[in-house]
Amino acid sequence: MAEKIVMFNRLVEQERIWRRIISSYKRNRVASAYLFYGPAGTGKEGYAIKFATLLNCQKGDAEPCGDCLSCKKFYSLQHPNLTLIVPLPKDKDITKNDSVVKALSDKNLKLLTELMGKKGRNPYSKINLPRANRILINSIRDLRKTIFLKMIESGRKVILIFDAHKLSSQQGEAGNALLKILEEPPEDTTFILTTDFPDQLPETIRSRCQSLYFPPLPDQVLTEYFQEVHQKTENEALLISHLSQGNIRTGLNLITKDMNEIFELLESLIDWVSEESESGWRRFLVNGSSLYRSNPQEFAFQLQLMSYWFRDAMFLAKLNGKAQLILTDRKEKLAEYITRFPNAKYPEIIDQLETCVDSLSRNYNLNLVLMNLLLDIQNLLHGRLRNYA
Ligand SMILES: [Zn+2]
Repeated sequence: MAEKIVMFNRLVEQERIWRRIISSYKRNRVASAYLFYGPAGTGKEGYAIKFATLLNCQKGDAEPCGDCLSCKKFYSLQHPNLTLIVPLPKDKDITKNDSVVKALSDKNLKLLTELMGKKGRNPYSKINLPRANRILINSIRDLRKTIFLKMIESGRKVILIFDAHKLSSQQGEAGNALLKILEEPPEDTTFILTTDFPDQLPETIRSRCQSLYFPPLPDQVLTEYFQEVHQKTENEALLISHLSQGNIRTGLNLITKDMNEIFELLESLIDWVSEESESGWRRFLVNGSSLYRSNPQEFAFQLQLMSYWFRDAMFLAKLNGKAQLILTDRKEKLAEYITRFPNAKYPEIIDQLETCVDSLSRNYNLNLVLMNLLLDIQNLLHGRLRNYA
């Protein structure tokens, strides 16, 4: 029971989606494949686990009971009916027939086990190993070896594939192999793919899935969550949810931090990219490339913070101060900033930041992506559209 409290009470309600899931479940119309998509930090993976748990619960009705043996095994992601596939690094060379775990160094194998344990306790934690840029073809081959076997336990086999857009990395061979299985899925089996970037998945895979969109979480819901689950004061919770912009993982990252430090960091980042000096640029590139290698999510968070700055600058410049800002504390600095760059093309800058996050998720050359971002921001701040010819 303790586990039930930990796992699902920490899952913020996505009521409309859960209602749809339950209704197909109750009508015995569970699909053979689902795609849970939508922006980061909206609970796609947590709900995929919850649904998988319900499909195997011995007592559950509209919710997994959390009490039966099956539920308990699911919470620790250790149920024999569950296969979890995530992007992995290729630390070692392996052959076609090797199990995917052979590709991992001992260190990463240990880390993977730890991260899976953490995921069971906190649905919003990510299972992300360093340099895990793609879903390895061997993960799908491993799946193929077991998926057609008879089940040991009753219930339904569930295959969770997180960050499914990474099936398309390299030549997309993992995606092709998966497609063959999806074309003729075994009985009593459900696939749940989750992704922040559905456009990167081949249409052939998407069309085989029932798609469910997870919208950003409303501010008010997040505020309550940070107050109740993380014992934040109302003011703290308000600021955190406001900065989270519907992404609970951003919020969970923020609650561990000193807000002043965050604002200082943001100002440094903005200084670096706005300066016309090489030293600022170099700092931005060094910060970006080393941080991205050690903690890609943290880097994505920094880019997100920067986009808030430019968004606020845009509204402040256009609406003359009547806009509702995200960075309310920094209004004066923002006002100063917009006078420095009267011709800035803010919407295009925001676009470039988003493109950058997307490019990084596609595993493009990191230094090149950052260099391009920097050049684009520089040009756009001065009102110049870059010539791509
Ligand atoms: Zn149960």
